[in-house]
Amino acid sequence: MRTNMRIGIVGGGIGGVALAGSLLQRGFEVRLFERAPGFGEIGAGIQMTPNAVKVIKSLGLLDKMLAAGFLPQSLVGRNWRSGRETFRTPLIETCPVLYDAPFIHIHRADLHAILASLVPDSVANFGVSCTGVRQDKNSAVASFSDGSEYEADLIVGADGVRSVVRAGLFGPEAPRFTGHMCYRAVVPTGGVVDYVSPDASFWFGPHSHVVTYYVRGGKAVNIVAVAETKEWVEESWNAPSSKEEMLGAFRGWHRNVETLFSKVDQVYKWGLFDRDPMTSWSKGRITLMGDAAHPMLPFLSQGAAMAIEDAYVLAESLKGHGGDVASALRDYEAERLPRTSRVQLEARERGRTYHLPSPLAQAKRDFMYWLRGLFNPQATGIQANWVYQYDARAFRPNLSDKPRLVA
Ligand SMILES: Cc1cc2nc3c(=O)[nH]c(=O)nc-3n(C[C@H](O)[C@H](O)[C@H](O)COP(=O)(O)OP(=O)(O)OC[C@H]3O[C@@H](n4cnc5c(N)ncnc54)[C@H](O)[C@@H]3O)c2cc1C
Repeated sequence: MRTNMRIGIVGGGIGGVALAGSLLQRGFEVRLFERAPGFGEIGAGIQMTPNAVKVIKSLGLLDKMLAAGFLPQSLVGRNWRSGRETFRTPLIETCPVLYDAPFIHIHRADLHAILASLVPDSVANFGVSCTGVRQDKNSAVASFSDGSEYEADLIVGADGVRSVVRAGLFGPEAPRFTGHMCYRAVVPTGGVVDYVSPDASFWFGPHSHVVTYYVRGGKAVNIVAVAETKEWVEESWNAPSSKEEMLGAFRGWHRNVETLFSKVDQVYKWGLFDRDPMTSWSKGRITLMGDAAHPMLPFLSQGAAMAIEDAYVLAESLKGHGGDVASALRDYEAERLPRTSRVQLEARERGRTYHLPSPLAQAKRDFMYWLRGLFNPQATGIQANWVYQYDARAFRPNLSDKPRLVA
């Protein structure tokens, strides 16, 4: 295998650091370029579902994740007003048995720091914003706002939903505002409290839903509260909000939700954007991963998980093909495109089923949850068992036929 190939990664979010770590573990020469002045993540929680945790395990980071995270008992659906349980999918005991990995709630900053522990400082360039990419038959080049350039055998755009690398490859196209806005907050609790159960709780209301779960070993609760809006939200829109605004948007919800919201200190609100699935992410020696390739609504909790799976498969494909970039990218896309496209579309569909406006439609949905749960509790509610079953570690590159680079 040729491991002295140079790989440039644009973007040091969860996907970029997961890829850098995966490549370094396989002996590749890597440089990562991040426009922020240092590694950092916004203060919110994230659900790491078993499919992503399988990769984290194979990176040797599971113990750190367990030490920093929280293991939820179950995934639970609740009625927004009565708090009545509409489904319960057991997690803590079943996930390791069914999927070979636990379901972990963790603070994003903790997850990012754990992944970044695989990436030495010497590999990362901070404060450099990529402005464009170009290539010829033998190399790819990324250009930066400070006038510098980096030439590599492969450039990977891990630069998020508004990816410059994607625009450079496939032309500029704004992501779609989905009509959802989202409040996010983390409430320090000092331990498990009686108004938040130790689960991943999905509260479904008309045109809105709320997800709550513990992070940091149970010392804090993460809130994601999504409401539909008719107002057009600017592409880059995210803004500080307030406890009053959040309580106002969810007035009349169950007292446990209101009690939790009343303890919020700092709240941010975001517009949620996605894009349609693509038919290809690569041209020649440049490719995409994570939100740059397949941004999605967070309703299946899979954006970062997909980026982590991408990272593992891309690194494994490059290793298997020993420096043959075209073959590696062909197999990377063949493995990842169908999966991420399905997750993108199904996440979008969840926006509809979570937010059913009429009590009758809600009652029908909840009856189906109950009925499905009788047969298989793992396949009811948000119905994500097919997402969790996937195992990126089972990917094997196809070493039998060789494509040519498409410039
Ligand atoms: C409300 C909400 C809840 C979510 N919950 C979950 C969850 O529970 N589970 C889950 O798996 N996912 C979740 N997600 C999705 C997840 O946050 C994203 O999918 C994930 O962070 C994508 O990672 P990424 O590395 O591809 O992109 P990003 O995290 O966006 O990282 C991109 C990086 O590239 C840098 N960058 C951008 N442009 C440039 C440039 N020109 N030059 C250099 N650097 C650049 C940025 O500064 C950033 O560091 C949620 C998302 C939202 C909005």
